[in-house]
Amino acid sequence: MTNTYDVCVIGLGLSGLSAAHQLITKQQNVSVCGIEARDRVGGRLLTVTEKSEKTGEEVTGDVGGQWVCDAQKDVMRMVKLLGIDTFKQHFAGKSVLQSSGTQIRYSGIVPYTINWFSLIEMQLMLWKLDSQAAQLNLDAPWDHPNAPEWDSMTALTVINTLWTQTARDLLTAFVVSCFACEPNEISYLFVLFYIKSAGNLHMLIGTNFIPHKLTM
Ligand SMILES: Cc1cc2nc3c(=O)[nH]c(=O)nc-3n(C[C@H](O)[C@H](O)[C@H](O)COP(=O)(O)OP(=O)(O)OC[C@H]3O[C@@H](n4cnc5c(N)ncnc54)[C@H](O)[C@@H]3O)c2cc1C
Repeated sequence: MTNTYDVCVIGLGLSGLSAAHQLITKQQNVSVCGIEARDRVGGRLLTVTEKSEKTGEEVTGDVGGQWVCDAQKDVMRMVKLLGIDTFKQHFAGKSVLQSSGTQIRYSGIVPYTINWFSLIEMQLMLWKLDSQAAQLNLDAPWDHPNAPEWDSMTALTVINTLWTQTARDLLTAFVVSCFACEPNEISYLFVLFYIKSAGNLHMLIGTNFIPHKLTM
């Protein structure tokens, strides 16, 4: 038997699921089917529950997307619509940066206690990232005149242009924590696109802009 649908959504991560949801709720008489390559929906969102080897207790954790903020207007609208609970991210206390064998404790986003050369170099790099990201058109990042060059580079290419080890360590920590991959595994154009998608670097990494953690 062959089924016929008006629309087929391919890939049932958050984007596919919300596209299907919108079609079903906002369009009348539109039949929708979804095709997903994996044996589950959700894509890069996944909550897992495992037994702790130490205590035998069941521990639940997110291994994909988990934080949302008010700047993510569409996601927040969906969170409210689905009645998903959120709680504020705990970010009291100090952050620790491990660099060149030493530990640096600091408050806020930037470790102002590192040496001045690294700090200035890091700040110049953050401005450069923000200004290049701001030039991209989110609907067609490939249209930027420098897109072929940026896409032929990885984040590591850019990190390697830094002179100081601490600045290199900081930028590496940013890439690893934001993209869940090593700097040599990700296109520089994609890094810029991701920064622009969030608004700017501060909104992407600032904990005061990331106040909610989902509980589902
Ligand atoms: C470790 C990690 C942490 C993250 N943390 C956050 C966070 O805190 N806050 C935040 O906002 N974002 C976070 N993100 C990003 C967020 O998870 C993603 O932006 C979002 O889930 C992407 O959803 P999507 O539907 O666009 O893509 P995906 O979730 O990648 O979904 C795409 C789906 O399409 C399927 N698919 C692909 N090709 C085919 C095909 N040919 N046929 C059928 N199916 C196909 C895939 O299997 C997948 O299920 C994080 C991501 C990761 C990996």
